[in-house]
Amino acid sequence: MRQTLVAGNWKMNGSREENRHLLDGIKAGLSEGVGAEVVVCPPAIYIPQVARRLNGSGITWGGQDLSLHESGAYTGEISAAMLWDYQCRYVIIGHSERRSLHGETDAQVAEKFLVAQKVGLTPILCIGELLEEREAGETEAVVARQLDAVIDASGIQAIAGSVIAYEPVWAIGTGKTASPQQAQDVHAFIRQRVATQNTDVAEKVQILYGGSVKPDNAAELFAMADIDGGLIGGASLDAEGFLAICRAV
Ligand code: PEP
Repeated sequence: MRQTLVAGNWKMNGSREENRHLLDGIKAGLSEGVGAEVVVCPPAIYIPQVARRLNGSGITWGGQDLSLHESGAYTGEISAAMLWDYQCRYVIIGHSERRSLHGETDAQVAEKFLVAQKVGLTPILCIGELLEEREAGETEAVVARQLDAVIDASGIQAIAGSVIAYEPVWAIGTGKTASPQQAQDVHAFIRQRVATQNTDVAEKVQILYGGSVKPDNAAELFAMADIDGGLIGGASLDAEGFLAICRAV
């Protein structure tokens, strides 16, 4: 039985004041527990604030990206060890905004995955197709290519120590959600692809759905057999909305 996970990706949003309200709201709402592990991924500068406020709460936190490099002359970058130093347990890798806005390639994403695991971070590996790729019937080929790049670099066992997030790019921040069946079909494909190499790993790995998950569509999505939770962008910035999604598990 896979543990459900709900992770909030705050992207480049928040302020110390807003974060205080959001974190206190989430903490209060989760004090009786929910059936999911809950993770928040704030902008890097706020990780120390989040670490202070969530310490001992049972809610975990993570980074939104990391550097390929361990240390050195890489102005503006944040290393895996720095995230670990602030008790991050997770790090988002290969988010479509990193791939499209910063030109991250499959090979770089695969390398970041390795770098994260090397220090003990659990990568949340984002994969997903563009609208034109879906319309051209290329969804499975795209997610297979993105996934295989990581498996080829790290080996299939490394997938067991990670979380995969299927995020159709056309559904991110657009208000267009994949239907539960569309999402389930791709999740089942991803699990099957892992199973061709190792059935135990396939059974174990959590596959999250991301793309305009909201309180009113979360339950239907999370009820699908191969959807093990969600990676939530916009709706994770509002405590009540995020809590409603966590409770939809
Ligand atoms: C995301 O950025 O990972 C995401 C899923 O965003 P949204 O929920 O806003 O579509």
